[in-house]
Amino acid sequence: MLNPAFGRIGLSPIVEISERVRDLAPRWEATSGEPFAHLQRGELADDTPAFVRRATVAALEAGLTRYPKSGGEPWFKDAVLAKLAARGLTGLGREHVLCTSGGQEGLQLVFNLFAGGRVVAFAPTWSCVLDNIAPYAACALDPVPLVARDGRLDIDFAQVAAKLPGAALLYVNTPHNPTGKVFSREELARLNELCLEHGVSIVSDEAYEDFVYGEARHVSLLEFPGDHVFAVFTCSKTYAATGFRLGYTVCRNAELIHRLTLGEYTQTGGVVTFIQKTFAEALRADAERETWLRPVLAKFARRRDLIVAKLAPVLGPDLYRPEGAFYFFLDLRGKVPAAAAGADQGAFTLQRFLDAGVAIIPGTAFGGPAYAHHVRLSFSGCGDDGLEAALARVVARVLTV
Ligand code: PMP
Repeated sequence: MLNPAFGRIGLSPIVEISERVRDLAPRWEATSGEPFAHLQRGELADDTPAFVRRATVAALEAGLTRYPKSGGEPWFKDAVLAKLAARGLTGLGREHVLCTSGGQEGLQLVFNLFAGGRVVAFAPTWSCVLDNIAPYAACALDPVPLVARDGRLDIDFAQVAAKLPGAALLYVNTPHNPTGKVFSREELARLNELCLEHGVSIVSDEAYEDFVYGEARHVSLLEFPGDHVFAVFTCSKTYAATGFRLGYTVCRNAELIHRLTLGEYTQTGGVVTFIQKTFAEALRADAERETWLRPVLAKFARRRDLIVAKLAPVLGPDLYRPEGAFYFFLDLRGKVPAAAAGADQGAFTLQRFLDAGVAIIPGTAFGGPAYAHHVRLSFSGCGDDGLEAALARVVARVLTV
C-alpha cells in the first residue's frame, strides 16, 4: 500500500508552464523576430548579487562542508535574530528559530505539524500551497476569498470569524502571491485577535517581506501578541537566490520549534552548511542589501506603474495596483473571448497569451474554476523593453472583446 499523500500532490502549474515555455519561446522568437515575454516567473531575472556569491565561495574555502547542525547553526540563528531585532522583533532566542530548505520546507513542516487539520486560507492562494503543501499534509484548505472593491482587496472578517472555530491554522501571506496585496497592521491585528480568540495557530508566509512599493510597509505577524504564529521567511526573493534553498521559520513557542527541528532533521538532515554560512553573512550585510535592493525595487515600481498605465484603459480604473510582491492578478472577465462550451477557460486564455508571445499563469492555478477568468502576471523576470512590447501585444491580440 503506497502512502496516499503522494497521490494527492502534483507538479505546480507554474513549473509546468515554465517547462512548456522553455521549448516554445525560442520558436516564437524565431518566427516573430521579437523577444518572448516571461511573465510567468516568480523569481528575479537579476543575478544573485556579488556579496552573496562571495560569501558562498568564502564559506566553501573555509571548509564548511561537514554535516550541518539540523535546525540551524547557532551563528545562522544569531544572524536571523539580529535581522529581526533590527526590525523591532525582540524577545526571541535561538530556540525560536529553525533553518529550512527554502520557505517551502518551512511551510511544509508547519502544515505537517497540523496534519489532517482544516486550514483557513485567503483566496486566491499560492498554487504550491494548494497543490502540494496542504494535500501532502492531508490538510483541507478552507478558502476565504479576498473581496475586490473600488480598486482595493478587502478581507471579509465575518467569513474569517465564521470559519476559524475548529480550524487548525490560518494561512496568511503578506505581501500576497498572486495579488500583491500588502496586509495592513490593522488587518493583521484583527486576524491575530480572532485566532487567539478561537485557539487557531497562524502560518505567516512572509516570503516577499522586502518587496513593497510607495507608502506600503510590510508588517510581520510576529509583532502581535501570542506564541501561536509561525512566521516563514526565505532568502530566495530578497537576494535573488532561489537556487540556494535557504529559509527560516520563527515561532515564539520553543517546544514547537523543537518538534519542527526533529522533523527537519528527519527529512533533510539539515540545510547545507556553506549555504547557512552564506546567509549568516548576507543577513548581517545591511548596507550591501540596501545597495542591491534599492534599484531593484525602483525598477519594479516603474514596471508596476507601466502595467497600470497600459492596462487600466482596457481593464478599467478599478484594476488592483499591487502594493507588494511582483504580481498582478488580473480579472479578464469580458475582456477575453469565452472558451467553447465545456472547454477549460484557463487553458484557452493561456493559449491566447502564448500565441502573443507572453507567458502568464492562469488564475485557476490559484483557486480552481472560481478564477477561470483571471491570470497572474509577474513583473520580476523580464526586461523593461520586453515588458512594454509585451503589454502592447496583450492589448492588441489578447484583450480583444
Ligand atoms: N511563499 C510564497 C507565497 C512564494 O511565492 C514562494 C516562492 N515562490 C515561497 C513561499 C517559497 O519560496 P522558497 O521555497 O524559494 O523559499
